[in-house]
Amino acid sequence: MSLTLTVDGDRWRKHLRSIAESTPGLVPVAKGNGYGFGNGRLARKSQWLGADTLAVGTYDELDQVSSRYDGSLLVLTPWRPFSTVAEVEPSDRVIHTVSRLEDLTGLLTADPSARLVLERMTTMLRHGFTARELRAAATVLATHPRARLEGVAFHLPLAQGEHLTEVERLMTDVVAAGLDTRTVWVSHLTAKELDTMRSSYGDFTVRPRIGTGLWLGDRGALKVTATVLDAHQVVRGDVYGYRGRTAPRNGTILVVSGGSAHGIGLEAPTGDQSLRSRAASIAKGGLDAAGFVRSPYSIGGKQRLFAEPPHMQASMLFLPSGAQVPQIGESVDVRVRYTATTFDRTVIS
Ligand SMILES: *Cc1c(COP(=O)(O)O)cnc(C)c1O
Repeated sequence: MSLTLTVDGDRWRKHLRSIAESTPGLVPVAKGNGYGFGNGRLARKSQWLGADTLAVGTYDELDQVSSRYDGSLLVLTPWRPFSTVAEVEPSDRVIHTVSRLEDLTGLLTADPSARLVLERMTTMLRHGFTARELRAAATVLATHPRARLEGVAFHLPLAQGEHLTEVERLMTDVVAAGLDTRTVWVSHLTAKELDTMRSSYGDFTVRPRIGTGLWLGDRGALKVTATVLDAHQVVRGDVYGYRGRTAPRNGTILVVSGGSAHGIGLEAPTGDQSLRSRAASIAKGGLDAAGFVRSPYSIGGKQRLFAEPPHMQASMLFLPSGAQVPQIGESVDVRVRYTATTFDRTVIS
């Protein structure tokens, strides 16, 4: 009755190990929906991998991981003065990210011996210091001898294999700032880029923060299935659904588990949505001409259409007559975005 994530445990763990072994200084990232696995499970796996630091997205997520993992906890969202008192409760395990000068003094006023990383702005333009502000931060830190500077962070865009010129520019700023650290925390660098960076800046320790490539890097180890809950034969003109639509032709309304509450169907999976292909389909009297939208459910090797938008926990699909109708209770494959899906069950073999 559920939307289930089934994990080939041996294969998944082998992949995690191989990433950990080939990535010195790896910092696993556990945030949001825990990449489909849940942050608690990722915390235990990070412990098992022997990582000395785990990154979470927000202060609120610390509670989900802190009892399941005993190393340092890097919070990726920068500290702000409106963070609640509980969030800045001095904890020796928490490493704060600081991205503005006023927050640097604010944090050090709240906790003079805070552990922190300074975030340098990148072409992402999300958070971070300019080169000049980074030098000013060094001046501020010089007057706070108890502060524990743990490094400088760069959050780079996803573009693969084109980061090195940007990294070089940012590293120049780090060196020029004269900060009392030789650690840089980075995201989204390829293994090759990391190697180049390590050899160019031999006196620096590089800490790659990785989520997707670690937890979801071997998709073959993962399988998502829904259950067929019901099947109703319809003839053209039969009324069905919340909106009283009529079937555009003979077929089967198939009710499957998984709906908006799981994150199903909020976005049509990528496919050929060009005007030309739409026009061809309308000319052929295709079902999408009847306003049906592609669903992420696959039956008989074909991605099927929603008979209407997904419901809270179930979805209605339309199978045209002639298509093989699966049995009630049978599992069907679903293609999902792992970072946006809530599974009812996760089964790890
Ligand atoms: C989410 C995040 C990461 C990890 O990103 P993935 O694409 O999942 O590997 C790294 N750094 C920061 C700042 C992040 O927010």
